[in-house]
Amino acid sequence: MKNNSRRKFIQNAFKTAAVAVGAPAILSNSFAYAGTVSKLGLNEVPTIEPLKFAQIKLPYSYAALEPSIDALTMEIHYSKHHTAYIKNVNEALLAENISYTTEKELFSNASKLSAKIRNNGGGAWNHNFFWEIMKPGSKGPEGKVLEAINASFGSFDKFKEQFTQAGITRFGSGWAWLVNDNGTLKIGSTANQDNPLFDNAPIKGTPLLALDVWEHAYYLKYQNKRNEYIANWWNVVNWDAVAKKMS
Ligand code: MN
Repeated sequence: MKNNSRRKFIQNAFKTAAVAVGAPAILSNSFAYAGTVSKLGLNEVPTIEPLKFAQIKLPYSYAALEPSIDALTMEIHYSKHHTAYIKNVNEALLAENISYTTEKELFSNASKLSAKIRNNGGGAWNHNFFWEIMKPGSKGPEGKVLEAINASFGSFDKFKEQFTQAGITRFGSGWAWLVNDNGTLKIGSTANQDNPLFDNAPIKGTPLLALDVWEHAYYLKYQNKRNEYIANWWNVVNWDAVAKKMS
């Protein structure tokens, strides 16, 4: 690691540590740094875990989203595609000595990252998000999520139509998104494995809902009929998970 990036790395690590133990915000980085270094040898620097992505445990079985999403698609998607994104991004983060300490920080610098980190980092994060916002037997949004959707799009049906169009019209591989942009809900799509946390994304904000429209997400069951995949996907949206992301 280069000296200045190492310094930034260490400073960020101490900022995180100070917050974690509830230290007063006034605590300066230099104070924290000097205090800790005094406990180490002169040539030693404290080490912290580098940024590393982890695959969440699938919250349901491969077959749980049938018939909307078939078990074989889920199995290949989770155990092959997603696993590969996780492995590849972690390899690249190490190989390229990346000093960002959070996923958010990494993605807000997406335009400066290598293609390997951008594509696999997005793939790692987006799929963890995607598994979370699905579940068997969707009942539709209610409460504050429904209110926010009505306020931003007029009605749930209008929202559904606009989101569906974002998924259908994304040319090639990518994702459709619902985001919270400072209190306003917005719909858009990204190419490849980009997401709304990327500094150069065409849609920005806090992701609330995501739909994978890569062919690997639906081709075994739906072949070229992306519109049918999307129509059936509404039956497996976990609106409770969306509500948690809004709070
Ligand atoms: Mn995918």
